[in-house]
Amino acid sequence: MEDCIFCKIIAHQIPAKFLEENEDFVVFHDIYPKAPIHLLVVPKQHIASLNDLTATHHDLIAKLMLSLPGIAAKHGLENGYRTVINTGAGGGQEIYHLHIHLLGGR
Ligand code: AMP
Ligand code: ZN
Repeated sequence: MEDCIFCKIIAHQIPAKFLEENEDFVVFHDIYPKAPIHLLVVPKQHIASLNDLTATHHDLIAKLMLSLPGIAAKHGLENGYRTVINTGAGGGQEIYHLHIHLLGGR
């Protein structure tokens, strides 16, 4: 989607520190880390927020959630991690392209 910073990162139009990419999602480092390890797991499909999910996203979301432990284990979070999804203005969402924060490494 035009003017979406995460769509531009996914399209490699603006740089990010990529860790993983597959047909469904990308993983890159948060530019302003709030923990020693702070990753963002971002579906390639532009979905604005958790509130915009529908039944059509069922398989994608299942894949995403099931991938998190493996992503965490591969990138230094094998001792545990925090997962965060901010939703809407009251939830502190800044970028309206669905993403899961993976935080840890203390
Ligand atoms: P949220 O508040 O859940 O929408 O979080 C957006 C996150 O994206 C914040 O933690 C930002 O630090 C991060 N962020 C913003 N711009 C970039 C970027 N260009 N590359 C990587 N992370 C970014
Ligand atoms: Zn987007």
